[in-house]
Amino acid sequence: MNATMDQKQRLVDGNSLFKKTVDPMLLARLAKKQEPFVAILACSDSRVSPIKIFNLSLGDAFVVRVAGNSASDPSILGSLEYAVEHLHVGSLLVLGHTGCGAVKAVIDGSGNENLRPVVRDIERARAKVPMDQINNQNAIAEGNVRLQLRLIEDNSRIIHDAVSDGKLALYGAMYDLETGLVRFV
Ligand SMILES: [Zn+2]
Repeated sequence: MNATMDQKQRLVDGNSLFKKTVDPMLLARLAKKQEPFVAILACSDSRVSPIKIFNLSLGDAFVVRVAGNSASDPSILGSLEYAVEHLHVGSLLVLGHTGCGAVKAVIDGSGNENLRPVVRDIERARAKVPMDQINNQNAIAEGNVRLQLRLIEDNSRIIHDAVSDGKLALYGAMYDLETGLVRFV
């Protein structure tokens, strides 16, 4: 069997183990309706799985993931709006992380063409950190979390109004790859 087949088999086996261990009552309940309490915008990085790091379960979180946890692509912002408007999540978290490859790519000037909106945001965040932090990957990633929180409110009437009406709390956090701890910022 070649490596790709092994990888696919790993997924097939993983799903059959999941099917054996998942609570059927939970599946039945969630199949009728999802009621996540939180929407999370996180990076695609394989080490930053929000469900794992917050010890959550199926149905708990509406998660949108993209390299660099940027909400500048309209489909990302629209997905978050869906969670607020239709699923009525009470919290929206933008989660950045240490050692982010998207931030590193911007520092190194090696962003991929299709990631342009993400790169632009990270460049904006980089321009706002103190001069001595200009190549500090984690300071820029944290600045990008703060920038995203502002952009989300500025660019989405739905989210802006939900915050003004006291129905939605917006917050940001940084996940530390080495310690496994999340620090709210
Ligand atoms: Zn990342």
